[in-house]
Amino acid sequence: MFKKLIVANWKMNPETPLQAKTIAKGVLKKIPRGVEVVLCPPNIFWSDVAKVKRPSNVFLGTQNVFFEDKGAFTGEVSASMAKESGATFSIIGHSERRALGESDEFISKKVLAAKNAELIPIICVGEKEHDTQGLYLDFLKKQIISATSLLSKSAIKDIVIAYEPIWAIGKDAKNSMSSYDIHQTSLFIRKVFIDLYGQSGKGVRVLYGGSVAPENCEELVKNGEVDGLLVGHQSLIPENFIKILTAVSKIK
Ligand code: PEP
Repeated sequence: MFKKLIVANWKMNPETPLQAKTIAKGVLKKIPRGVEVVLCPPNIFWSDVAKVKRPSNVFLGTQNVFFEDKGAFTGEVSASMAKESGATFSIIGHSERRALGESDEFISKKVLAAKNAELIPIICVGEKEHDTQGLYLDFLKKQIISATSLLSKSAIKDIVIAYEPIWAIGKDAKNSMSSYDIHQTSLFIRKVFIDLYGQSGKGVRVLYGGSVAPENCEELVKNGEVDGLLVGHQSLIPENFIKILTAVSKIK
């Protein structure tokens, strides 16, 4: 049994290295033992955050990686560079990067590069709009098939899928997806993996992301039956993020 996994996606925040260090210190002084936590600061603040002492259930992750190892790729950071700098996880294919033009092909290459560098990819999938006929499920299936298309069956078992419906991102707790719908969708995602990859597909952890806050986190994880959460704006407020970690750490 895994502990629940909570990923903090700081996006392009905060504004200074000192603020980054202050947020990290604020979070790290009160981490409950019953969860695994991944902090994903902007790369430029990485060394500041990495200097803050952290317990063994807190890991560092990047918000993206490039698929080539090194060379003339201005502005990019490779998966092996991230690994060598202390990352354990990397978010890949976040909807905000897809909106900037990141293609399915790039995402599949990045997932492979992450696995080759022994990083755990947190692959983001999610529909723009929710429909009642279930068309969004076909869309999710295509995103999953494409993102994992370059992996061998045995490489599948320890990847993480973050299901983030785009329409639910960046709002307040009332506007997240309902735990009932999260449950239906997480069951669907687990079934896709088992159909595609058999036994290895059972090891995939499925997270939910989109307007997670202290008020809704327990309900979303418990009744949504997910393996954890990806948290955006609330992860920048240490007291709120600690409330989320504490509430989720108590879920059996
Ligand atoms: C995200 O964009 O990954 C995210 C989950 O954001 P928020 O928590 O702000 O909705």
